[in-house]
Amino acid sequence: MIYADNSATTRVKPEVLDKMMPYLTEQYGNPSSLYAFAYDAKRAVEDAREKVAAVIGAKAREIFFTSCGSESDNWVLKGVASKYKDKGNHIITSCIEHPAIMETCKYLEKQGCRVTYLPVDEYGVITPESVSNAICEDTILISIMAANNEIGTIQPIREIGAIAKERGVLFHTDAVQAYGHIPLDVKEMNIDFLSLSGHKIGTPKGIGALYIRTGLRIDNLIHGGGQERHRRAGTENVPYIVGLGEAARLANENMAENISRLEKMRDTLIERVLRIPYTKLTGHPTNRLPGLCSIVIEGIEGEALLLNMFNEGICASSGSACSSGSLDPSHVLLAIGLPHHIAHGSLRLSLGEDNEPGDEIKIAEAVEKVAARLRAMSPVWEGNKPIWD
Ligand SMILES: *Cc1c(COP(=O)(O)O)cnc(C)c1O
Repeated sequence: MIYADNSATTRVKPEVLDKMMPYLTEQYGNPSSLYAFAYDAKRAVEDAREKVAAVIGAKAREIFFTSCGSESDNWVLKGVASKYKDKGNHIITSCIEHPAIMETCKYLEKQGCRVTYLPVDEYGVITPESVSNAICEDTILISIMAANNEIGTIQPIREIGAIAKERGVLFHTDAVQAYGHIPLDVKEMNIDFLSLSGHKIGTPKGIGALYIRTGLRIDNLIHGGGQERHRRAGTENVPYIVGLGEAARLANENMAENISRLEKMRDTLIERVLRIPYTKLTGHPTNRLPGLCSIVIEGIEGEALLLNMFNEGICASSGSACSSGSLDPSHVLLAIGLPHHIAHGSLRLSLGEDNEPGDEIKIAEAVEKVAARLRAMSPVWEGNKPIWD
């Protein structure tokens, strides 16, 4: 099997599991307990906090552990909306955010917030000018993702951060796809809040963090005990936090090498699959996540494509029907201007550290084979082209 779905989740790294093991077995102390046995757990959590912070140029005390990236996104949006309701109720985001942002914004609209969903260009880029133009008197937060999970486009976060700072508006970025994969610096980029998640960088699913810049207050999402300096209640998930620390350390240490290796494989993969007639790259041609190749293949359906790819031994995903369980094509693909009938044939191939040299060729060959087979039986394919051409 070739796993090419690293944007959905990653394999747990053996080094990460090794570091977690003691805290899943004999080191079961509660970090809040006062005796020496539990103190080891406390120290392990604080050590992980430093490592998680180091990846983005933050201070350890600016990192708050959560249960996942979705919780971090919910916390910052709801926490800012309620804390700053006297100042305003307007939030600026984009129309290609992850559901953890989109659905939270829709919920907040029902609670009386006003949300601007900025459009993107054909490559999925949110322009800094559009952010600037959307800012009003009552704008309390700008939330723009660092890199898109479906099409891989990296956003001009530094420029948007500069605008937010100049205009005095708080700035959050959902960096779940970017954290540990591409360089990010919260100080240089003027980021006030940043969401990240462990399972996209080699931890088990179910651990995340929110970076909150020193001095900023937002309302709590999880109320209860005094953990995480009274800002996120719940006994700490010590083994997973330790795992996140180790995954962050590894990602930071190997980032430059991973980027250059993955970019080469990705570019070969893109070049090969685009040789298939009536295919198109989605997302930005160069400013994109190092391992992510996303395309649309005209004349075929995303689900059929994935099932057939899996029969060829390849795990991939699609932005269309099957990922959402609905028949609508992805909101991201529609936002970049693809018509419904083309957006249905989307394929996302996301390479990761475990992929071996040559995988990109095997994947491309499988895509070619499957596309030809499916087109031969497709009701919207005639001869050598789609019926709409
Ligand atoms: C995966 C992902 C999330 C959600 O993270 P979980 O830890 O799975 O809740 C949020 N945003 C983006 C961009 C993602 O890719």
